[in-house]
Amino acid sequence: MSAELVCPYCAQENAPQALVCWACSRDIAVPASLIAERDDLTRKRARAREDLVNARAELDQLRGRLRFHIRRK
Ligand SMILES: [Zn+2]
Repeated sequence: MSAELVCPYCAQENAPQALVCWACSRDIAVPASLIAERDDLTRKRARAREDLVNARAELDQLRGRLRFHIRRK
């Protein structure tokens, strides 16, 4: 008999064949290495979003400056 599957996120016990934790609804059917890889990608995505927000703010700033120069002519 296979042992209970313990959720790596909330430590609740799940059925051995469970795909999703009944307690926290996270995927538990994937190996730990894949979970770590996914977490890493999630972090990279969050950082990319932050960069995008910063780039947009910078662009808005440049646009504002450009508008200012055009108006002065
Ligand atoms: Zn869980």
